[in-house]
Amino acid sequence: MSSVVDCHGVSFAYGEQPAVSDVSLTVEQGDFLGLIGPNGSGKTTLLHLMLGLLSPDEGSIELFGQPVDDIDQGNRIGYVSQQATSRGGTMPVTVRECVRMGRFAHAGHARLSADDEAIAEEALETVGITDLAEQRVNELSGGQRQRAYIARALASEADLLALDEPTVGVDAESRDAFYQLLESLNNDGIAIILIEHDIGVVTDRADRIACINTELYHHGDTESFVESDALSEAYGATGTVVHHHH
Ligand code: ADP
Repeated sequence: MSSVVDCHGVSFAYGEQPAVSDVSLTVEQGDFLGLIGPNGSGKTTLLHLMLGLLSPDEGSIELFGQPVDDIDQGNRIGYVSQQATSRGGTMPVTVRECVRMGRFAHAGHARLSADDEAIAEEALETVGITDLAEQRVNELSGGQRQRAYIARALASEADLLALDEPTVGVDAESRDAFYQLLESLNNDGIAIILIEHDIGVVTDRADRIACINTELYHHGDTESFVESDALSEAYGATGTVVHHHH
């Protein structure tokens, strides 16, 4: 079986400024990868490269075993960008309509079958927002909107969920529930790439960690990361505190 994401020696610069340098890493099916690093360390850039939203200057990237530039299986990827929680979103559709959009790639035309609609309803149920189905997406709270986007990805039967700081602006309780949801989706087999600034959340939830600061400092299982010096090396010797939630 092919990997979900395969990066080989990937580099990218904005003009002269390198943002990602010679990064090689692999995300396998069923992985929950936490992507961490200080502010401005290239996390969002690397995620955009992995999803084909940017093209590398050097190196190569495969998604589902295909060069990312040729990917014709966009429905297999659910991407929740950093902006997804911010207010004033421009989605004047209802939550149910938004989630049903996840089915269009499968339906192949503008009319959904009863099966497509049932899958969309199930996705609403899974993320716990059935009661919000008739609300407009741009009227939701940040946390509710995250769930709507995740439901849309589930409806499209995505194999990979990529999330860029998905709980910025979300209260602590909803945040915990959100990470429990991610964990249970991952247990059902969906691969997850999570950018999250709270290292404690990442070490608690992710089974693999990629720690970057332009270059890759660590890529491996969470346990070996916690035991390594990668964190202090990548973050500098300024004493980043690791919080654990138990
Ligand atoms: P992170 O997600 O870890 O905070 P980013 O990938 O957003 O880091 O940014 C990495 C570096 O690239 C930073 O120095 C940032 O200022 C720079 N950068 C990000 N986006 C752009 C852009 N569109 N144009 C120029 N520089 C950028």
